[in-house]
Amino acid sequence: MFSEKFLLADRVLQVAPSPTLAVNAKAKALRAAGADILNFSVGEPDLPTPAHVCAAGKKAIDDGRTRYTPAAGIVELREAVCAKLRGEQGWEYTPDDVQISCGGKHGLYNIFQAVLNSGDEVLIPAPYWVSYPPMVQLAGGTPVIVPLKQENRFDIEPAALARHATTKTKAIILNSPSNPTGAVYSQAALAEVAKMAYEEGWLVVTDDMYEELFYGEGRVPHILHADSRLKEQTVLSNGVSKSFAMTGWRIGYSVGPREIIRAMNKIQSQSTSNPAAPSQYAALAALTGPQDFPRQLRDAFIPRRAYFVEALESIDGVSCVAPMGAFYVFPNFSSYYGKSYNDKVIDGSVALADYFLSEAQVASVPGAAFGADAFIRFSFATSMATIEQGMGRIKQALAALR
Ligand SMILES: *Cc1c(COP(=O)(O)O)cnc(C)c1O
Repeated sequence: MFSEKFLLADRVLQVAPSPTLAVNAKAKALRAAGADILNFSVGEPDLPTPAHVCAAGKKAIDDGRTRYTPAAGIVELREAVCAKLRGEQGWEYTPDDVQISCGGKHGLYNIFQAVLNSGDEVLIPAPYWVSYPPMVQLAGGTPVIVPLKQENRFDIEPAALARHATTKTKAIILNSPSNPTGAVYSQAALAEVAKMAYEEGWLVVTDDMYEELFYGEGRVPHILHADSRLKEQTVLSNGVSKSFAMTGWRIGYSVGPREIIRAMNKIQSQSTSNPAAPSQYAALAALTGPQDFPRQLRDAFIPRRAYFVEALESIDGVSCVAPMGAFYVFPNFSSYYGKSYNDKVIDGSVALADYFLSEAQVASVPGAAFGADAFIRFSFATSMATIEQGMGRIKQALAALR
């Protein structure tokens, strides 16, 4: 037999498989065996894609829009992205500054492929979205994890960034509202990060996927409002997956300096060619049609978020920062670590999530997957009844630990 080392590239071997997969596989197996699993592990809205968006996708197929498009995506959609950014944020971009990709995730992948050289370091605040470190590694870069604090409501911390920066720092990734914490970075902290990024010449990548799902007033603070000079060294990543419940259509977009977008288009033209044409027309309908859907989605999440946070905080030894955006709660369960059940010690988030799954039929994602082992992520993109039932089971399961 050939060894794995012989068969596979080093770049694949250095990337760890996601710890979420173990829980997911087990949840599926338990469900198949007839268990009544309550699933809080999903990372997508529980509403269907709006009807007018589906209709636009179907019409695109009927109209024969079933062929290759430009590698960067159809110009109408890139124009719609520019119009959105101009109207909502006052930022001027042209279609040449925009790439449409196969989901926001692939846009981020293209960005790192386009800008990183071997050894370049990327500052990644933790808890982080699971895919950032492997994406950086697959592009030859080195992820540098910068821990954020629960006491500070997971706000971005300029001093911590400064401590982790080196002469090799090439880029920083900002994700506000954050998956998994739901944190929204404060304007004051962003202003300091902006100053640092400008002075040090870091490329700023903002993952704005949850910008529409904000539980505060007005719009989410953004680093480009802190210092508009940063526009020359910032790439925005966004998409329609979360805001329009379109995860399966696979449409995202990146916006930034033309040279970077051009390089990303080169990569896309040699890899996926372009995102699916009908999906691009559906996304065009999402961005140019009625804009009430994201608001509806947000309004549906408000009571679930309130209930979830309060129920978690009422449990002895559990603390949970109220998320200011997205649809996840990220409670700290570390005071339960070291306890055991049937002689099995709960030694961290993977063991606790596993315990919740097997003993309480509750599927969740261990914080270890996000670089924060004290926590577990629960999605509230699920019904209120499921949340109520799930909370009852979690309380009972925690009480059974000795
Ligand atoms: C869901 C998500 C994405 C990407 O979504 P796509 O489905 O690829 O469009 C990017 N960043 C974060 C933080 C996400 O949660």
